[in-house]
Amino acid sequence: MTSRRTFIAITPACIGMLVAPRVAQAQAAVDEKDPQASALGFVTDSSKVDTKKYPKHSNDQLCSNCQLYTAGAAAATGPCSIFAGKSVPAKGWCSAWVKRAG
Ligand code: SF4
Repeated sequence: MTSRRTFIAITPACIGMLVAPRVAQAQAAVDEKDPQASALGFVTDSSKVDTKKYPKHSNDQLCSNCQLYTAGAAAATGPCSIFAGKSVPAKGWCSAWVKRAG
């Protein structure tokens, strides 16, 4: 039988075990070789886009000024609505780029 003292000691550790993997998952960076990323032409550096394949791209199109980048524009990395649970670099780009409103 679990004593009240044991329960109080174990509970925070259990909560930590439940929360930690989600935090780590949120911080995983999108890999350019990931099939979804590759299909969208995702690159971690917007200046490295294949302009023959994506002629409408310009170097001022960045994750940080994309409507789907849910971090503040000044954040170095942040979540993107397209890549759930992962982060993209502020200077990245993909073909789903949409100019941030405002
Ligand atoms: S949708 Fe926008 S924020 Fe997401 S990877 Fe593409 S350019 Fe970056």
